[in-house]
Amino acid sequence: MMGASVALAQRKHWVFDMDGTLTIAVHDFEAIKRALEIPVDEDILGHLAALPADEAAAKHAWLLEHERELALASQAAPGAVELVRELAGRGHQLGILTRNAHALALLTLQAIGLHDCFASAYVLGRDEAAPKPAPDGLLHLADAWQVAPHELVMVGDYRFDLECARAAGACSVLVNLPDNPWPALTDHFAVDCWALQQAL
Ligand SMILES: [Mg+2]
Repeated sequence: MMGASVALAQRKHWVFDMDGTLTIAVHDFEAIKRALEIPVDEDILGHLAALPADEAAAKHAWLLEHERELALASQAAPGAVELVRELAGRGHQLGILTRNAHALALLTLQAIGLHDCFASAYVLGRDEAAPKPAPDGLLHLADAWQVAPHELVMVGDYRFDLECARAAGACSVLVNLPDNPWPALTDHFAVDCWALQQAL
């Protein structure tokens, strides 16, 4: 059995969040909520899912267009490209689990120069799996890779990433938040992807 105590360097199945983890966070969620008339304390995808179909469709279309512009302008987070290339070079399995849309995740990977490191089938967006913090995406990848969920590493920058990892029984790594606001949810912590690569 591999538990959270197994060294990261020995792990061969890595799943990354996209926005704020591999890229510099640019989503202005408050502005999105204002534009779509979503109360600040509500989850964007959850709110849209509860709307009448035509209103939900119109707002999803607006969100997709807004996110497409952000995707094209994406910039890699510090050390993200080097970390992913290191793991790919070791022959490890790599996946993406994002609340963004699949097509936009691929655009984003292209924009930061990492599209050759991820098979499209292992890039899961909000339509391929129930969104984080649900564990579905990680369970799907574990199944696709024929490994137990506890062998996966989930790298992210938000509590949903950590909660998703915990719910799946996977190992979590929090990056890009120097003050780690969620120590109880975090199995491993690295200041950024440079630091994570140094730990491997
Ligand atoms: Mg994120």
